[in-house]
Amino acid sequence: MEMFVAGDWVDRSERIEVRDPFDDAVLDTVPAATYDDVETVLAASVDGSRVARAMTTFERSAVLGRVGDLVEERSQSFARTIAQEGSKTIREARKEVSRCVNTLRSSAEEARRICGETIPFDSFPGGEQRKGYYERMPVGVVLAITPFNDPLNLVAHKLGPAIAAGNAVILKPATVTPLSAIELTRAFLEAGLPPQVLQTITGYGSVIGDPLVSDERVRMISFTGGVEAGRHITARAGIKKIGMELGSNSPVIVWRDADLEWAVESCVSGAFWAAGQNCIGVQRIYVHRDVYDQFSAAFAARSDSYRIGDKLDEATDMGPMITEAEASRVEQWIGRAVESGATVLAGGDRSGTLVQPTVLEKVPSSVEVHCDEVFGPTVNLYPVGDLDKAIVEANSLNFGLHAAVFTRDVDTAFKIAGGLECGGVMINDSTDYRLDTMPFGGVKNSGLGREGIRFSIEEMTEPKVVCWLLRDV
Ligand code: NAP
Repeated sequence: MEMFVAGDWVDRSERIEVRDPFDDAVLDTVPAATYDDVETVLAASVDGSRVARAMTTFERSAVLGRVGDLVEERSQSFARTIAQEGSKTIREARKEVSRCVNTLRSSAEEARRICGETIPFDSFPGGEQRKGYYERMPVGVVLAITPFNDPLNLVAHKLGPAIAAGNAVILKPATVTPLSAIELTRAFLEAGLPPQVLQTITGYGSVIGDPLVSDERVRMISFTGGVEAGRHITARAGIKKIGMELGSNSPVIVWRDADLEWAVESCVSGAFWAAGQNCIGVQRIYVHRDVYDQFSAAFAARSDSYRIGDKLDEATDMGPMITEAEASRVEQWIGRAVESGATVLAGGDRSGTLVQPTVLEKVPSSVEVHCDEVFGPTVNLYPVGDLDKAIVEANSLNFGLHAAVFTRDVDTAFKIAGGLECGGVMINDSTDYRLDTMPFGGVKNSGLGREGIRFSIEEMTEPKVVCWLLRDV
C-alpha cells in the first residue's frame, strides 16, 4: 500500500513489511516516510487547514456520514484487515468495525452541534453597551498518532472529531498496523473529503515522530499510546494543545454480595480481550475473602477453557500478541512474578506470539505484573476483607483510566465509585466497557484530556469571542 501525502498516494524505496503476528506471513508493505516527507506533509497541512475551515458544517457532516456508510458496507473487509494485521480475533474485529461506524456517524451528528454562547458583557461595570458571543474555531492542524491495538476505531476517534470540527489532520498510524488506517483514509476520500484535509504518513515514530510533534504548524497532538512515548512527545511538543490517551493497570473490586458467575464471565473477557492488549483491560482483581476461593476457582477454570490460536477461526477466543518480542516480555514478567512468590492458577506458558491466558495469585507488589501495565493476557487475584483497604489498593498505582466494582449493594457501589481515582467506574461490568460517545480518558499517568466525539471536538477547537461596542444605543 502507499501513503497519502499532499493530495497524492505516494511510495518510497524503503518499505516496511506488515506481518500477521499469528503466522508471521507478510500481508503487505508500506512506505517508510523520510524527514523530507515530514516537511512536505507539514507544508501541505497548512493549506489543508484552510480548505477544512472553508467547508460548511453540512459538507463536513455529510462526508462523515458517507464514510460511516462505506465502512459499514465494507465491514467484512475491514474486519479481516484488523484481524490479520493485529491481534484481534475475527469476532473481536467485527465488533471494532461496528464501533467505528458508530464513531463516524456520531462525528457526523456532532459536527452540527458545535455551538458557542452569547456573553452577558454587562455583568460588570465597564461592559455596558457591549454585546457579543463566542464560537468554537478549529485549532487548524491536528496530528493524530495512533496505537496498534484498535487499528481502525481509535483512528476514527481522531479523524471523525477533527474533521467534524473543521481541522486538517496528519495521521501517523502504528507501524505494525497501518493497513486499516490506510483503508479508512481511502474511504474518506471516496466519501468526498477534499484531499488536502487528510494526510496519512507511514513510518517509524522514532524517525518521523520528533519533527512532526515539535513543529509549530501542528496546533494539536492527539496521541494514543504508551506512557513512555507519551512522555517523550509531551517533552518535545512546545506550545500546542496535547491530548494524551495512555496506558493503565485497571483494578476491579469484587465484593462478597456480587453475582459471582457474571463477575467471572465479565472479568475473564475484560482481561483477555485482544490478548490483553487493551488500555482498559482488567489487570488486578481484589476479591472479598469470603468468596475468594469460589471466585478464583471459577476464574481459573473459565480462563483454561479459552481457545487460543488462529484469529480467522470463528471458534477462537483469543489471538496472539502483536510481536514475539512483546510475548517474550510478558513471559519474562510472569517468570519474575513466580520467582518472587506468585502462584500460577491458569496458563503461564508461551509458544511464539501466543501467550496463554494467565491467572496469578500471591503476587508481590514489587513485580511488574502488579505495578506496571502488562498489556498482555495476564491477570492477578488478591483477597481483601476491608472495603477502605480495597479502595486504597485499587488506587495505589500511578494509573487511572477505568476501574470497576461488582456488588449488589447500592451503598457499597457508591462508596467504591466515589473513592476510585480514575476516568471511569463501571459498576457490575468489567473495566473493559466503553461507549464511544462517553467522555473517555484517564488521570495520573493514564492521560490528559478526554476523547469521545463531543469531548474530542471540545479539545480540537478553541473559543473565539466576538464583542460589539454599541456606541449609539
Ligand atoms: P506506542 O509504542 O506508544 O505507540 C503508539 C504510537 O506512537 C505509534 O504510532 C508509534 O509509532 C508512535 N510513536 C512511538 N514513539 C513515538 C515518538 N517518539 N514520536 C511520535 N510517535 C511515536 O504504543 P503501542 O504499543 O502502539 O500501544 C500500546 C499502548 O497504547 C498501551 O500503553 C495502551 O495502554 C495504550 N493505549 C491507550 C488507549 C487509551 O485510549 N488510553 C487506547 C489504546 C492503547 P510506531 O508504531 O512507529 O512506533
